[in-house]
Amino acid sequence: MRIVEWRELTVPLEGAVRNAVVSFADHTVSLVAAVSDQRRNGRPVVGFGFNSIGRFGQAGILRERLFPRLRQADPDDLLGEDGGFDPAAVAAVAMAGEKPGGHGDRASAVAAVELAVWDLVAKLGDEPAYVTVARAAGRPVTGGPVPVYAAGGYYDADGGGDGGTARLRAELDGYRAMGFDAFKIKVGGAPLDDDLARIEAALEVAGDGSRLAVDANGRFDLERAQAYGRAIAPYGLRWYEEPGDPLDYALNRALADTYAGPIATGENLFSAIDAENLVRFGGLRPGIDVVQVDPGLSYGVTEYRRLLGRLEAHGFDRASCHPHGGHLINLHLVVGLGLGGCEAYPGVFRPFGGYAPTCELGGGTVRPSQAPGFGLEEKPELVPHLAAMTGDLT
Ligand code: MG
Repeated sequence: MRIVEWRELTVPLEGAVRNAVVSFADHTVSLVAAVSDQRRNGRPVVGFGFNSIGRFGQAGILRERLFPRLRQADPDDLLGEDGGFDPAAVAAVAMAGEKPGGHGDRASAVAAVELAVWDLVAKLGDEPAYVTVARAAGRPVTGGPVPVYAAGGYYDADGGGDGGTARLRAELDGYRAMGFDAFKIKVGGAPLDDDLARIEAALEVAGDGSRLAVDANGRFDLERAQAYGRAIAPYGLRWYEEPGDPLDYALNRALADTYAGPIATGENLFSAIDAENLVRFGGLRPGIDVVQVDPGLSYGVTEYRRLLGRLEAHGFDRASCHPHGGHLINLHLVVGLGLGGCEAYPGVFRPFGGYAPTCELGGGTVRPSQAPGFGLEEKPELVPHLAAMTGDLT
């Protein structure tokens, strides 16, 4: 059993939206194909993965470092004891010669590779990836459904015009009509009073603070994070996301000392030790706070399972993990690993954001289909990109 070819396609995200810090207009994603020597229905079996949305494609790291290592490796080094492809072994080969720490963009490049191998393994087993992931982790196999919330409430790329409360309500009403009953909106890109008006408009749709989260995308210094915290505390929101710089553990700790509600963070941390440091130094509170480390940005499933082990050793329940990145891959990982829930970006981040029409969405939950692997082939917007990568294979 061999992986005979590694391919990468850099795909731009569609839609011009922004949060408090960045515009996504220029963002890209690396789609990776692991082409195997195994055949089904007269075609090679190909595993697809991608690094998560919200950052950038990693063509340089993939083509200059990771793919050459994988091509030059002894093919047996990519196999597990059962003779099948081993995502952890592949990730280890991809990381050969890399020094520890300073994870950065390398972590999402490795993730795209590692996730492509999970897709490949699941397809070779003719089963959905959540089954493969659950079995590998020694967990019970359930097919979901899992809780999902709609993330949106972005500021327009031009700055938001009228403050946008009518548009925001209409946006969230649209999500509710799709079957979502929990929501997340951006804050911090407008003055506090304007953001409070946005929150109150969103609450008209969400109904209760427990169904609405807000995300500052790491914009605030401690003073402003605490001012926002004081202002939003009466709403009893589901969580207050990334109030300060993702690496400012002291800020997070100081805020956790004064803001009683849940704080969510971690989407911009890319390793198990980074997440553990949140607990050691960032004041993260078991049973209250939410960890959003995204496997697609942090070396994939192998490293994410290490992270879960570290968090559980500190008294956290994996139900407190809600990975950033609302897409098919993370849906399968949330189901397979028994995490707290998924996010979804129904209106933005095409072609990667959101789920396939074959996924069951309703009642505030989502359930993956029975398609083999991550089921990316069932997402119509992705199909042309998958075809562009593999259409020449015979
Ligand atoms: Mg966020």
